Amino acid sequence: MPQVSIDPAVPPSGTGCQECLAADGWWVHLRRCAACGHVGCCDTSPEQHATAHFRETGHPVVQSFEPGEDWFWDYEHAVEISGPALAEPTSHPADQPSPGPAGAVPDDWKHKIHR
Ligand SMILES: [Zn+2]
Ligand SMILES: [Zn+2]
Repeated sequence: MPQVSIDPAVPPSGTGCQECLAADGWWVHLRRCAACGHVGCCDTSPEQHATAHFRETGHPVVQSFEPGEDWFWDYEHAVEISGPALAEPTSHPADQPSPGPAGAVPDDWKHKIHR
């Protein structure tokens, strides 16, 4: 069965990185899997769960889950691509900080990220 890399009907899994929330972790920016809605953290974040999700599932395309950003990234080909409008919401709440979530980000977070 061919894999669907972008399914515009699937809503995002939540407002934050699934794995970080489960582990009391934190993130810098959020990415949303365009195939299944999984929300994970970006490669600058300590745990890089969006890339891990791609490696685990083979779902190749994410969209930025940051307010005001609508670009897609294709992990397989390492290129930015264009895509359709995905199911709302297309970003985390505007009052949710980056890095986030509120209360979980250490004071020295800038020393703990990937650059
Ligand atoms: Zn994460
Ligand atoms: Zn996925």
